[in-house]
Amino acid sequence: MKQAILSAPMQMDIVDVPIPALEPGDCLLRVESALVCGTDIRIYEGTKKKNVSYPTVMGHEFSGTITESNGDLPDGLAIGDLVAVYPLVPCGECVACTRGKANICRNRIAFGYQLPGGFGEYVRIPAAALQNLVKVNGVEPNSAAVIEPMSCAYNGLKLIDAHNAKALLVTGCGPLGLMHIRLAKAIGVEQIVAVDPSEERLLVAAASGAQLTLTPGDGVVSAIRDFTGDAGVDAMVVAVGRADAFEPYLGALAPGAKVNLFAGFPTGNDTLQVSANEVHYNEYSLVGSSSCHLSDFQYVASLVADGTLKVDDLVTTTLSIDDTVGALEAAKAGRDLRVGVSARVS
Ligand SMILES: [Zn+2]
Ligand SMILES: [Zn+2]
Repeated sequence: MKQAILSAPMQMDIVDVPIPALEPGDCLLRVESALVCGTDIRIYEGTKKKNVSYPTVMGHEFSGTITESNGDLPDGLAIGDLVAVYPLVPCGECVACTRGKANICRNRIAFGYQLPGGFGEYVRIPAAALQNLVKVNGVEPNSAAVIEPMSCAYNGLKLIDAHNAKALLVTGCGPLGLMHIRLAKAIGVEQIVAVDPSEERLLVAAASGAQLTLTPGDGVVSAIRDFTGDAGVDAMVVAVGRADAFEPYLGALAPGAKVNLFAGFPTGNDTLQVSANEVHYNEYSLVGSSSCHLSDFQYVASLVADGTLKVDDLVTTTLSIDDTVGALEAAKAGRDLRVGVSARVS
C-alpha cells in the first residue's frame, strides 16, 4: 500500500509498504478521507515540534472503513462500518488526565503523530484505540473526517461558555473559523460576528451563520459595538495565529467576556500585548484550547450525522497521495477550505 512518510522536516516520500499486520485486538481501516490540517503544514515545515518525532505518517483528520479485525470489535461496530477516528490516545495517569484534561495529556500518543495517520491507504487501529472509532455510516467520508477539527472548535467554544453567550466574535475565517461559526449557530448563539481580510471567506462566513462580517481595519470595533447595542461580545475566538487578530478587538468585548486563543501561533512569533488593567477591571478571561475530548468528538459526530451541522462543502480539493506535498502546499496557499489526500484519486 502507499504511505506518505515524513522522515524529517520537508523530507516527504511516498513509499510502498506492506499493509500493517494486526496484533491481537487490533483492527484495520481503509482510509476513505484524510484532510490536511494547518498543524500538518507546520509539522512538514518543522515549525511544530511538540509531540512530533520522525519518521511520521501525518493525517489526524480522517475517516475509514473497517476492513479487518484480529479479535472482537467493540459492541456496535462491525466490518464494513464507516468510522471517524478520534486521534488521541491519552495515558490516563498524568496530571492532565487525572484532572479531566485527557485532551492535553502529557504522554499522549496520537494518530498522525506517533501512530501512523491517514496519509496512507490503510491505518492499523491498535487494540488500545478501539474506543476511538465512532461509527458514522451514511455520512460522506469527507464530512466524517471534518468531525475532528469541528470537535476541537466545540471544545474551544465550551471553554468560553459560548452556550450562554449572546454575541460571539470570530477573528480569522479559515476553515476552523468557519467551523466555529457553524457550531455557534447550531448551539444557539444569537449574534455572530466574523472578521477576515478575504471578502470571499466572509461570504462563506455569512452563509455559515455570521450576521455581521467585517474586514480588519478602522471602525471594526465601533461596528461591533453598534451591532451588539453597545454591549460588546461576550465571547471571542482567535482562529488565526496572529497578534493582530487579537489585540485590536479588546475594545469590542463585553464586561466579563471570555476569549479563546484557539489557533496555534508560529513558534517565536507568539507574543501578545494586552493591558492588564483592561483584563482586571473588565474581568476578562483569556483561555486557550487544544484538541478535544472523545465526548466532544462523539457529540459533534452526532450533529454531523443528523444533519444539524452541514460540513460537506468544507473539503474543496482532494489530491492524490502521490502529490501529498502538493496538497500541503495547496492547504498553505489558503485558497481552499480543507484539502484532502487520497490514495484513490490519481
Ligand atoms: Zn487538525
Ligand atoms: Zn495523560
